[in-house]
Amino acid sequence: MSQETYSDRDRSFALAKRTHELIRDYGPSATPRAYAVWYSYVSGELPLLGDAVKRLTTQNGCLTEADIDDLHETYVDERRLTNATGDISRGVLGEIAAVTEILDLSLGSATQYGESLRGLAQDLAQGMPTRARLGEIVSTLVSTTREVAADNRVLEARMRETRSEIETLREKLEATRLESLTDALTGLSNRKHFEEMLKASLDAARGRAAPMSLIVLDIDFFKRFNDLYGHLTGDQVLRLVAIVMRENAGKQAQLARFGGEEFGIVLPGADRVTARQVAETVRSSVMGRELVKRSTGESLGKVTVSLGIAVLRAGDTPASLLERADLCMFAAKRAGRNRVVDDAAESLSQVA
Ligand code: GH3
Ligand code: MG
Ligand code: MG
Repeated sequence: MSQETYSDRDRSFALAKRTHELIRDYGPSATPRAYAVWYSYVSGELPLLGDAVKRLTTQNGCLTEADIDDLHETYVDERRLTNATGDISRGVLGEIAAVTEILDLSLGSATQYGESLRGLAQDLAQGMPTRARLGEIVSTLVSTTREVAADNRVLEARMRETRSEIETLREKLEATRLESLTDALTGLSNRKHFEEMLKASLDAARGRAAPMSLIVLDIDFFKRFNDLYGHLTGDQVLRLVAIVMRENAGKQAQLARFGGEEFGIVLPGADRVTARQVAETVRSSVMGRELVKRSTGESLGKVTVSLGIAVLRAGDTPASLLERADLCMFAAKRAGRNRVVDDAAESLSQVA
């Protein structure tokens, strides 16, 4: 979303404050890199970074400059993916060069073979050769054919090698593409992919004059849950919410975790009634799950979620749709949480 809501702004200051406290308590010093690492940690948007920070601070009680450098390079620096893509592109170019070389060689050997056959044919055309000359021609023919066959075997082996290299590169490229679109913690789409899906669905709905809806879901009192049971258990809850969404949002739904504990459900073709049904089903299913700590069997009670729905209107952009769904979600929070608010006229009075 290009436009920040007030709550985004408040949240960013709260995150900055917490970042500052953590740098002070766990080090090493307030460098821009350390700030970036700790800020990403606090925002919860890079769960793998979160796990690594927790592991290091539990082991050593603090983070060193070297830890910050490693964490920054591995989790924060967006160039990592760019580098991976760069490596793959270089690999592809290398394989294209290899294929071209093989083709050149095989064309070259075919041309040579053709020339030598033509030469022999000319010899024969000049009249009946002597017996000795005929012997020479046949033996040249046999040896040239053998050479070409041997060349072809070499070329075939190289072609096979190149083919398997290309297949490996294709798989790596696909894995990198998926990694760049997926939230590692839940396996749902990440924010970048969510924004692309939202735009594509909106354009498609416009094109077909069909309805579409967007649901924004936020976990209730999640901070309290994290404080009580720890961030790792909190992460399990995020995974659980993702599973419940997968099980209940329907085949058409496009699911994303686009913020720390905020999720999006894009519903192509869904009008208000359908979107409300989906949201209600997700809400009641999350509430219906008793949370149990796997390691101890201890019951952690239940979590609830608040959901906001925006139904596509004329003139909507992805940003306006997301903003309206967000406002409805906040209205659901204000109205007591664990509920669904949509952007129908009667609900809008609560949204304002
Ligand atoms: P509300 O009902 O108003 O939504 O209250 P809340 O506590 O859920 O909302 P708030 O936005 O104040 O806090 C969100 C919390 O979510 C902050 C952080 O503890 C937690 N969180 C964000 N991302 C992650 C994450 O990736 N993992 C875990 N475990 N917690 C996260
Ligand atoms: Mg939130
Ligand atoms: Mg919340």
